[in-house]
Amino acid sequence: MLQKVIKCNKKYIKNYIKKKRTVKLIKFNVPVFTEKSKEYVADAFAQKHVSGDGKYTKLCNDFMRRKLGCDEALLVHSGTAALEMAAILANLQAGDEVIMPSYTFCSTANAFVLQGAVPVFVDIRADTLNIDESKIEAAITPKTKAIVPVHYAGVACEMDTIKTIAKKHNLLVIEDAAQAYDAYYKGIPLGTLGDMGCFSFHETKNIMAGEGGLFVTNNSKLAERAEIVREKGTNRSKFFRGQVDKYTWVDKGSSYLPSDIVAAYLFSVLDISDEIQAKRRLIWQRYYDAFAALEQQEKIRRPIIPAECSNNAHMFYLLCPDLATRTEFIAYLKEHDVAAPFHYIPLHSAPAGRKFCRTPQTMNVTDKIADTLLRLPLYYDLTQAEQERVIELCFDFWKNR
Ligand SMILES: *Cc1c(COP(=O)(O)O)cnc(C)c1O
Repeated sequence: MLQKVIKCNKKYIKNYIKKKRTVKLIKFNVPVFTEKSKEYVADAFAQKHVSGDGKYTKLCNDFMRRKLGCDEALLVHSGTAALEMAAILANLQAGDEVIMPSYTFCSTANAFVLQGAVPVFVDIRADTLNIDESKIEAAITPKTKAIVPVHYAGVACEMDTIKTIAKKHNLLVIEDAAQAYDAYYKGIPLGTLGDMGCFSFHETKNIMAGEGGLFVTNNSKLAERAEIVREKGTNRSKFFRGQVDKYTWVDKGSSYLPSDIVAAYLFSVLDISDEIQAKRRLIWQRYYDAFAALEQQEKIRRPIIPAECSNNAHMFYLLCPDLATRTEFIAYLKEHDVAAPFHYIPLHSAPAGRKFCRTPQTMNVTDKIADTLLRLPLYYDLTQAEQERVIELCFDFWKNR
């Protein structure tokens, strides 16, 4: 192992000296920004309504309602905000428990911790890296109120099983669909299968607004309250529709609306969403096909997508055999100006996770994936030449291993 590291380091130094500084850094992510983005943002200013729920927010909400075929879709300022709304709407009492994976972003858990609830972590499946549905029931206690499936990399969790368990134990299903725009389970859009769904339009997601998110539900009672929770606990939305003659504070809530400038940017990205998705799928497929050879040699493992799940090409990752090799792999790519980050530090091992959450079962798969996964550059403007350089570098790294 040590020999390998020394050999590898020597190679870095040699390459570092030789390296022509003209080589362009290939970033992990580059946000989409078009001429339309400038045009729509300028138009948002021209409307003289740049706070929330202006022209572009409505256009985005309508677009997403049509796209998802859901009853209510509300633009919010982040995926985190959507999760916080869901947590408020779940009516949790202090000490109530919410089951979720640990291999996720901290907002999945944080939203519930803010309501005094306790996230309870369940291990993930080795194939999809999603919550292991076969381990959920063992984690249910009389305090359990909800299951939060996270659709990692836009690949669906086993939703039929999860919904059956939820029904049996009378639990809410809140989907963290932050990575799941344009992703489906048995043909149904992710985010619309549970009681509530939460999307993110952060600049690292397929569809972006810089910062942005979306709360969706098909439940009319939740929808009515969601509108209030999003508007600082007031019935202002009803007031604007003329359904009440003055608005007032009626429920818990916070400020979850984005400015209409943000919505204008988002709408410019939605304008070319089909092109974005087609391009991302092409890039994803090129990686997938290219790395078949390395998988056959049992050097790395590619993503696995079950037949009932679609692929929205949110992420392309590789799984290395162990942490040491991944560390070398990332360093090698970095030395050659390619950004290929690993992903989550599992929440059960994070300081706040240990403090606020419960981990009743073993987390072997989660720990293994956290040590071995790395993500390759995948964004709309990535050129074929750039991608070929990434692939070539990966093959160089694995050549003599
Ligand atoms: C991005 C992401 C979030 C948070 O979304 P923001 O828009 O950044 O607040 C939450 N959960 C998951 C799984 C994510 O990937």
